[in-house]
Amino acid sequence: MKIGALREVFEGERRVALTPESAGRLQKLGYDCVIEAGAGAAASFSDEAYRAAGVEVVEGPAALWAAADVVVKVRGPSLEEVAAAPEGKTLISFVWPAQNEDLLKAMNEKRLTVLAMDMVPRISRAQKMDALSSMANIAGYRAVIEAGASFGRFFTGQVTAAGKVPPAKVLVVGAGVAGLAAIGTSVSLGAITLAFDVRPEVAEQIESMGAEFVYLDFEEELTDGAESGGYAKPSSPEFREKQLEKFRELAPEIDIVITTALIPGRPAPKLWTEDMVRAMKPGSVVVDLAAERGGNCDLTVPDEKIVSENGVTVVGYTDFPSRMATQASNLYATNIRHMMDDLTPEKDGTPDVNMEDDVIRGALVCHEGEITFPPPPPKVK
Ligand code: NAD
Repeated sequence: MKIGALREVFEGERRVALTPESAGRLQKLGYDCVIEAGAGAAASFSDEAYRAAGVEVVEGPAALWAAADVVVKVRGPSLEEVAAAPEGKTLISFVWPAQNEDLLKAMNEKRLTVLAMDMVPRISRAQKMDALSSMANIAGYRAVIEAGASFGRFFTGQVTAAGKVPPAKVLVVGAGVAGLAAIGTSVSLGAITLAFDVRPEVAEQIESMGAEFVYLDFEEELTDGAESGGYAKPSSPEFREKQLEKFRELAPEIDIVITTALIPGRPAPKLWTEDMVRAMKPGSVVVDLAAERGGNCDLTVPDEKIVSENGVTVVGYTDFPSRMATQASNLYATNIRHMMDDLTPEKDGTPDVNMEDDVIRGALVCHEGEITFPPPPPKVK
């Protein structure tokens, strides 16, 4: 059978779901590989590099859909892309099924078998397929790099012949996968790094990375923010008030704020308010990784970088992984390759959609003319 990657059509998307390296690995699973011409160009993978890796290069999406049995993508398909798809193919991409009911219906009407990379259960066995984590890791790193590009000073403190330079002070709000990556990057660049999360169990992890956990003076701190499965739940009004009070106190001394706070199924909580931005020094930077979900900062404009009246840059980009397209494509294509590994137990180039496999069942959103989302809870932790 053939696995094929479409060229991404979402505006500004530079990633690709198949790399020359992942193609080599997929061939070892018994698959032939095909790619739409130019699909890897924005991620620095030329058609020649694919050909050298034994991948067939075809012109245009129609030829790709016709040639491939399993189509891989980064972004979920547009309704136009689904309309152009032949019936009965398998598709693997991000889908966000809870937010995209119409897309799910359209894909099901085409009797596509669809595996959503964003639905891979976050259990230990599935970590190698966890594209949410691999992309969040890149986003966290890139957020610090973007902040540095807008910040007029060093991160690390220095004593030079031309004078003493104080270290930058960075606050990371939310210490999930992206937040931890931002903390690691900020510490490695030499900034004094503070971090806060409503889940107190991350305090130890933050401190072990060389950053400082911001404690609140709040009795219920040890139980308030954590929900089952490692995700956060909305804070109580009292907790939120304490948190904002602490942030107001910190705002005048913080140079860079990276916000990453999310609560599943809800808009991002507003945590860095307008008055906090006003209290920051001119030249300070806020990078809001929650911009796509409404933003953690009051001033965030999704997809834009703005400067506040008092000279604070607020970055609301929503495409951080795509801004590191080569790295992101390498990791995403590896996540897909591991998914194909699970789908091909006999290594014979034939996918087996095993409904008893927690990971496959979790990711499967359409199959044999049925919408199979939402899945039952996984049996294994
Ligand atoms: P996420 O993107 O849903 O949220 C980001 C962070 O924001 C979380 O740490 C959350 O606690 C925090 N947050 C929410 N409200 C906040 C507030 N008001 N103030 C400050 N912080 C706030 O999180 P994620 O990166 O997807 O990770 C969620 C969990 O999943 C973590 O426990 C992580 O360790 C776990 N996880 C497990 C696996 C695995 O086992 N395979 C893989 C990835 C992540």
